[in-house]
Amino acid sequence: ITIAFSQFHDEHITLTTEQQHYLCRVLRLQSGDRFIAMDGMGKWWLAKLLGTEAQVLQLISVETELPIAVTLIVALPKGSGFDEVVRYCTELGVTCFAPVVSDRTLLNPSPQKLERWRRIAKEAAEQSERTTVPTILEPLSFSNSLSLVANKKYICEARGDYPHLLSCLQKREDGESNLNDEKTIVIATGPEGGWTETEIEDAIQAGFRPVSLGRRILRAVTAPIVALSLVAAAHEI
Ligand code: SAM
Repeated sequence: ITIAFSQFHDEHITLTTEQQHYLCRVLRLQSGDRFIAMDGMGKWWLAKLLGTEAQVLQLISVETELPIAVTLIVALPKGSGFDEVVRYCTELGVTCFAPVVSDRTLLNPSPQKLERWRRIAKEAAEQSERTTVPTILEPLSFSNSLSLVANKKYICEARGDYPHLLSCLQKREDGESNLNDEKTIVIATGPEGGWTETEIEDAIQAGFRPVSLGRRILRAVTAPIVALSLVAAAHEI
C-alpha cells in the first residue's frame, strides 16, 4: 500500500485530510499498521500509522525512474493540449518540462495554467508510482530555452531528411553504443504550425541536432509523447 508524496519532518509524516481518509476509511488501516510513503525527493519509506500522523521506520529501495534525465522543451500547444503532454510524459518518466512560447505558438499561458500543470504532474507521478515529480519551469521564450544544458540536445522537425531520434539515441558516430555516455538530454518539439526556419537554425547554432520522429506528421501534443516513449525504449531495454 503506498500513499503519495507526503510532508516529512525528521521521523514524522504529516498526513493531509485526504491521506488520512484514504488510509483510515478506504484502506481501513489502524494505528500501528504499516504503509509506504514517498517523500517526493526520490525515496520511498516504510511508515507506521499513529493516529493522524505517521512515523518513518526505514528506507525501501525501488527504481521507477528512467536511467537518464530528460528535459522536454515543448512549444505550447493550443487549448488544454499541454495538460495531456504533462500527464503522459510524466507517466513515461520525464524529468523536467520547459514550456516555451515560440514564433508560432498560439497559447498565452497564465499563472493558473502553471499551477494546474504542476498538479497534473504530481497526480500522474503518484499514479505511476514514480519516486520524483517532474519539474515544470515557468513558460519561457524559445530563444532562452536554447541555453538549457545537457549532454545531447535534439530538436524534432517534421519536414526534411533528418536521422530518426531512436537511431541517434542508440548510435554514436563511430558506431558504438551511445547509451551509457548520455546522462542528460534535451528534446524540443514544436507547435501546431511547426518551427520557423530561423528557430531551427538558432537551435542548430546552440548545439541541437534536428531529428525525425518517423514518416508521419504528428500532432503537437503527440510528438513529445512519442519522443519520450523512444527515450524510454532506448534506455530501459
Ligand atoms: N505543419 C507543421 C510543420 O510542417 O512543421 C507540423 C507541425 S507538427 C503538428 C508539431 C511539431 O511536432 C513539429 O514542429 C515537430 O517538432 C513535431 N513533429 C511532428 N511530426 C514529426 C515528425 N514526423 N518528425 C519530427 N518531428 C515531428
